[in-house]
Amino acid sequence: MVKQYDYIVIGGGSGGIASANRAGMHGAKVLLIEAGEIGGTCVNVGCVPKKVMWQASSMMEMMKRDAAGYGFDVDVKALDFKRLVQNRESYIDFLHGAYYRGLNSNKVEVLAEYATFVDEQTIQAGDETYTAPHILIATGGRPKKLGIPGEEYAIDSNGFFALEKLPKRVVFVGAGYIAAELAGTIHGLGAETHWAFRKERPLRSFDEMLSEKVVEHYQQDGMHIYPNSTPQSIEKLATGELVITFENGTKITADSIVFGTGRQPNTDKLGLENTQVELTEKGYVKVDKFQNTTQTGIYAVGDVIGKIDLTPVAIAAGRRLSERLFNGKENEYLDYETIPTVVFTHPPIATIGLTETEAVEKYGKEKIKIYKSTFTPMYFALDEYRQKCDMKLVCAGEEEKIVGLHGIGLGVDEMLQGFAVAIKMGATKKDFDNTVAIHPTGSEEFVTMR
Ligand code: FAD
Ligand code: NDP
Repeated sequence: MVKQYDYIVIGGGSGGIASANRAGMHGAKVLLIEAGEIGGTCVNVGCVPKKVMWQASSMMEMMKRDAAGYGFDVDVKALDFKRLVQNRESYIDFLHGAYYRGLNSNKVEVLAEYATFVDEQTIQAGDETYTAPHILIATGGRPKKLGIPGEEYAIDSNGFFALEKLPKRVVFVGAGYIAAELAGTIHGLGAETHWAFRKERPLRSFDEMLSEKVVEHYQQDGMHIYPNSTPQSIEKLATGELVITFENGTKITADSIVFGTGRQPNTDKLGLENTQVELTEKGYVKVDKFQNTTQTGIYAVGDVIGKIDLTPVAIAAGRRLSERLFNGKENEYLDYETIPTVVFTHPPIATIGLTETEAVEKYGKEKIKIYKSTFTPMYFALDEYRQKCDMKLVCAGEEEKIVGLHGIGLGVDEMLQGFAVAIKMGATKKDFDNTVAIHPTGSEEFVTMR
């Protein structure tokens, strides 16, 4: 017998859980189908384990690099990597429990199965079929394969989080968030780290200042950087070591090779051919601003739409959708413009709005004014190592509306959220100038630029 629901959500990751909970809160009868671990990418193999590892790496830097300047005689004897991983996974288990409790309190039924579409209102999961007038696709994505010979010897971000011991020498391939973050983290933990990307600079969609500075920081810290290096093949030696060869002839020998070269959507085995849901060329689900697909009654949020792959974006879109479907807010939708984001490099990057280049393209050079600041955070005042922080404001028009804010340096990750509120509200440079600084902090630079 087909079981009837008001709302079926496929995928128990950031977007799916948020949407299911919000629909349940409004009294809908909801079924959430998750084939893997509850929490999806972010909780299990994304934001959460990544941030724990980043934190561990930052602690190592503090103890090994910075504590001596403050008079501490710190001797870090060893890193018990296995314990770090075990504690991280216990924390993730605790989060699983919290998610189940939350879903339970909103009366969302959770089914541990793989779901496929039988038709536009019917889902097959395990031996049963389920139907609902509203179905959400929140199936996320997975690491993309490049198809080069020997790729099977390399790992991706999922494999990175499965490592049980710290590799001695690691090569990261890719130019995006994942390669930038994981390379910095493992380097800080003490591995010999090599970072290769195929173009002149990494993080190319970010403001140039950020991508230049992250390379400078990493080089200063002893990481080996290889621009203009497209991976060609990987070979495994009899010793178990891996050799990666790039098209420019460069070869690097390492214990571990990690690919961070993009992700692809989980749409290929969903049975979407049994519906009118259309996909883009790259396999993402096509949606309008209300998250409607091309099939009435089927919606999509999160990484599967290939717009902005961030957890808070998936959550916000999922919640707004449920407000629209189950709480009568007909015009509720997510504005995908001006979304703040942090890259957890060492030091971190924080960014919102247009890059300088994008602003010049959009408004014309004469209408753009750039403010910059470079300073040494007081944290490093007693340190021989004096890490700089770089900040930039991109302002447009006569009123100098702030259309971009970018920073790389200690603490910018925690500074951005508040500034993002102001920028989303349309703040101008004058508004920033009118705000009295907080001293001594790094964030005061953003309101005192000349
Ligand atoms: P997912 O979280 O991927 O969830 C999709 C779920 O659907 C999965 O659990 C999957 O098992 C399930 N599923 C798929 N197909 C089916 C099916 N047919 N039936 C049943 N279940 C199915 N974002 C940030 O904002 N901050 C960060 O710091 C950050 N760090 C990241 C670090 C890494 C290494 C990675 C890979 C990503 C990171 N992200 C970060 C991005 C973030 O994880 C994603 O944007 C977010 O998880 C997307 O949520 P989602 O709900 O769209 O998909
Ligand atoms: P990204 O899309 O950010 O970057 C992947 C990069 O790899 C591309 O930009 C490209 O750079 C390069 N690349 C693509 N194909 C190849 C190839 N064949 N050979 C060599 N290099 C290649 O993907 P990620 O996998 O890093 O991350 C996926 C998404 O997850 C991110 O976009 C982000 O939205 C999210 N995420 C968010 C985090 C956060 O919020 N802190 C952390 C981690 C992930 P180029 O064209 O310059 O060569």
